[in-house]
Amino acid sequence: MKLPKQFFSILLIIATAGLLAACLKPAPSKKPVNAAPELADAIAQLSAASDRKGAGGDDADEFRNLLEDVLISAGIPPELSQKLETAAKSPAFILDLWACLEGDPYLRMLVDKQHPLPAGYEPDDLVELKGGSYQIGRKGLMLRRAAAEALEEMAAAAKADGVTLIASSSYRSYDYQVEVYDRIVKEMGQEAADRESARPGHSQHQTGLVVDFGSIDDSFAETAAGRWIEVNGSRFGWSISFPDGYEEVTGYRWESWHYRYVGRDLAAFIATWFEGVQQYALQFIYEWEKAGA
Ligand SMILES: [Zn+2]
Repeated sequence: MKLPKQFFSILLIIATAGLLAACLKPAPSKKPVNAAPELADAIAQLSAASDRKGAGGDDADEFRNLLEDVLISAGIPPELSQKLETAAKSPAFILDLWACLEGDPYLRMLVDKQHPLPAGYEPDDLVELKGGSYQIGRKGLMLRRAAAEALEEMAAAAKADGVTLIASSSYRSYDYQVEVYDRIVKEMGQEAADRESARPGHSQHQTGLVVDFGSIDDSFAETAAGRWIEVNGSRFGWSISFPDGYEEVTGYRWESWHYRYVGRDLAAFIATWFEGVQQYALQFIYEWEKAGA
């Protein structure tokens, strides 16, 4: 896709705003836009140019077209697309997006039935889960360091509310996923298996950022832990990957127990702008980065 020059101007302004905001913002949950009002205004003016004819209007049109293309390629449904086209005129949306584009690309990487991880991918900062504020279902569970730390942080908050989280499954290597997938295919046949188990190379578990909690079945949703994570998980950077009613979007049936650590910025982005649907946000970011590559 041809990249409009206006894309660069917006990114440049956002980059400056993002950097300034990152220096100024007092807490991770604080929206960066609050910390850089002048720059946020500049972005708002730039975006508002899309409503005007004359100078800047062509560039703004190009930006609007780019956004439209990204929303279509990302398969965002029309109603949500409309909301996002309006949202994209706000500095809050653009700065939130920018926050997600910084840092570790694996946090935002689209890993689904169509998009495998890079061949042979194995995280290089896996740590063994020892339990702490949470319990472990078995020995030998591993997560990437940042996810392990975020798990402990979330579990400590849950514990303070009288809820115990149990990590039952976490990192799975490519080879281990071969075993898991083959076993489930044998148990229930390929069609049913594909609704709930990823083919090797396509599992979010291979990122080292995912935890299956508790019983790993539908009863988890009704437990205190299930309800607690559903409400509070995103505050700690955790996002449900396969929510109820989105099988056509995610490719998997509802999995109330499967949470991916995406970091606080992306978790907030998903909750604020994408109706809590991780898949939509990741598809959007994937297409956005593809358009800008
Ligand atoms: Zn899982």
